Amino acid sequence: MSEEKIRENDLSTTGNFIHSYIQEDLGENLSHINTRFPPEPNGYLHIGHAKSICLNFGLAKLYGGKCNLRFDDTNPTKEDVEYVDSIIEDVKWLGFDWEDRLYFASSYFDTYYDIAVKLIKEGKAFVCDLNAEEMREYRGTLSKPGKNSPYRDRSVEENLDLFERMKKGEFPDGTRTLRAKIDMASPNINMRDPVIYRISHSPHHKTGSKWCIYPMYDFAHPLEDTIEGITHSICTMEFEDHRPLYDWVVENSGLPARPRQIEFARLGLTNTVMSKRKLRALVEESLVDGWDDPRMPTISGLRRRGVTPEAIRDFCERIGVSKANSKVDSSLLDHCIRDDLKAKTPVVMAVLKPLKLVITNYPEGQIEFMDIENNPETEEMGVRKVPFTRELYIEQDDFMEEPVKKFFRLAPGKEVRLKGAYYVTCTDFVKDENGVVTEVHCTYDPETRSGSGFEGRKVKGTLHWVSADMAVKAVANLYDSMMLDNPDDPSGEMIMNPNSIEVCQCFVEPSVKDAKPGDRFQFMRNGYFCVDTKNTTKDNLVFNRIVSLKSSFKPKN
Ligand code: ATP
Ligand code: MG
Repeated sequence: MSEEKIRENDLSTTGNFIHSYIQEDLGENLSHINTRFPPEPNGYLHIGHAKSICLNFGLAKLYGGKCNLRFDDTNPTKEDVEYVDSIIEDVKWLGFDWEDRLYFASSYFDTYYDIAVKLIKEGKAFVCDLNAEEMREYRGTLSKPGKNSPYRDRSVEENLDLFERMKKGEFPDGTRTLRAKIDMASPNINMRDPVIYRISHSPHHKTGSKWCIYPMYDFAHPLEDTIEGITHSICTMEFEDHRPLYDWVVENSGLPARPRQIEFARLGLTNTVMSKRKLRALVEESLVDGWDDPRMPTISGLRRRGVTPEAIRDFCERIGVSKANSKVDSSLLDHCIRDDLKAKTPVVMAVLKPLKLVITNYPEGQIEFMDIENNPETEEMGVRKVPFTRELYIEQDDFMEEPVKKFFRLAPGKEVRLKGAYYVTCTDFVKDENGVVTEVHCTYDPETRSGSGFEGRKVKGTLHWVSADMAVKAVANLYDSMMLDNPDDPSGEMIMNPNSIEVCQCFVEPSVKDAKPGDRFQFMRNGYFCVDTKNTTKDNLVFNRIVSLKSSFKPKN
């Protein structure tokens, strides 16, 4: 193992190898650093991108440098302004600021062209007439060197003339390419005379029909970094083998900057998919409600679900940075979300699957307003009044006709505490013709009112409830993993979870009546919820469950 490899592995556990490179460079030949986040506008950002955003903006901030937002928009056929707009919104929402440094690779098209002409003049690039299939044959394999293209030795004049005519649109798509003249016998296939320009008669969302030749990623990207004076070009592992080509382009660009490419492992998450291509397929097949469906791992989906930027940044911090590709358990993300929300989110009562509870000895028409704390973790959040009436709703799950062992909730003859109110004892219940319990009857003990100092006896269960007369009807969307492993598919492709959403017609306490889209609550015992920003109307409150309260994740300390 090379010394470099050993160091990377050592430091990967603490996510520190990038820092050590930067510190080394700052100690030697750099006075400052510049990084960039370079999305291709061909889809919405996902949480994997958030990792890259936090890393690039975070490093710049830590070392007193700058981070650019740059659209890598060199592939006109897949890109769109809708994506540009969404990416700008998402990076901002995550809490990062590129100031006035919003760049588009397409604005460098003239520079790329000039550099390509310079390479031709220096005998370092040539126009090739091989088609894609022939090119594959000539390229060789990992174990077999490639063969020189028959067009490799064209004169500089002929190359200049053909390249200019490519630019003018004289040739159809795919008939000619511009290739760097490097080494067809290189053990690294990326160095075997890579294509640096291709013909594509497609309009571009920024440059319109000005260009019909477009630079390849491996040519454009190092130039973008060099033009912007990026010092550390941080990318994902699949570009490791492209690094010699990156360096070759930088070296031969004639530009002064010398960016250093550093690779790190992509973020993968369990029970979801993370590539834009797969996410786009879900959107296009209408399997989800758009890119911002709350089940999606997109930034816009997480935002609509109610996840905060703080939770995402905390998550990206905790997963760290390494060279080893692995999947992070999505329960870690859930843990970060709860951790962020628990102290700052008001706790209210909502009944997701309602069952009527009638307190037979409570006066009809009486209303008592119970004082209930808004967040037991944060006293300063105060108390609110919650109306208590003779008829309430409790959760269906909180009653069992024949209780199993350790069931401490309601059952015939059993007593429980109603949160912030009274103790009630179940006396009876009503079933419909299908044997389903539709109503539970109980009596309350007026001595046991919460806050009265009653200490007569203890009960094990505390149930949440809402007043049947005064509660507000709402919809609650409960989510489960979007994707599941498909045991029948050896390729590892996942399938959509058929139970990824459950829609409940629920009741929420009246204090929530005027909640606005985007407001967050903890529904006592039911999890964290956010008012949906898309489907909520004045008369129809829709809540998305951000995360349940229970965690399968155990933090290390
Ligand atoms: P996808 O495969 O999801 O389409 P991409 O790499 O093609 O992603 P880009 O728009 O090119 O998407 O990515 C912008 C930046 O975000 C790149 O620097 C890329 O390396 C980084 N990035 C993309 N996906 C991840 C991920 N899962 N984890 C970490 N960084 C990522
Ligand atoms: Mg890409």
